[in-house]
Amino acid sequence: MKTCNSCGKCCIKYSNGALSASETEIELWEVFNPNIAEYVKNGEIWADPSSGKLLELCPFLRKTTNTKSVVQYTCDIYYDRPDDCKYYPSNVREMINDQCEMIEASDLLDLTKAQRKLDIIMVDSR
Ligand code: SF4
Ligand code: SF4
Repeated sequence: MKTCNSCGKCCIKYSNGALSASETEIELWEVFNPNIAEYVKNGEIWADPSSGKLLELCPFLRKTTNTKSVVQYTCDIYYDRPDDCKYYPSNVREMINDQCEMIEASDLLDLTKAQRKLDIIMVDSR
């Protein structure tokens, strides 16, 4: 199990209408982060502030290039992102299905061990 390399696959896949935010998260955004709250419509994320339609891609996902010219993705609202984002990845099987790049070949040989490694890596994120 490797650490996250910011490949962006999870954000790209799940920000297309598959993320949710709690009422508390939305209320906090309304008070402290109106720039985030404007992308909420009827409790759903992420929606176009003008049309109210759900967006295909998270508006806070930023494409960058690292020093080795590798494309990476960052989150503009990292510290204020929804719990849904903070808790990904939580399950090794889901990661395999999503082709998460934290997964290594050795993880496939023992999913229980891989899950334990993941839980340790994710302690700081959750
Ligand atoms: S809020 Fe941040 S972590 Fe969540 S989908 Fe958007 S870019 Fe990714
Ligand atoms: S798919 Fe996995 S490696 Fe890629 S950004 Fe998401 S958590 Fe990180």
